[in-house]
Amino acid sequence: MVKIASAQARLFKNIFVCKKCGTKMRAQSRKIVEGKIKCRNCGKKAFRPKRKK
Ligand SMILES: [Zn+2]
Repeated sequence: MVKIASAQARLFKNIFVCKKCGTKMRAQSRKIVEGKIKCRNCGKKAFRPKRKK
């Protein structure tokens, strides 16, 4: 179970998805909140966590 939890943390932690085009970006959540991360595909700054449906 510990291995599964750590695998999920690795897969989902610090992964964000662009709200506009769905591009996945790896970034620190603090930088997302501060608006320092731009989507490499469309240039928007609107991201959501990957886990959220
Ligand atoms: Zn985008």
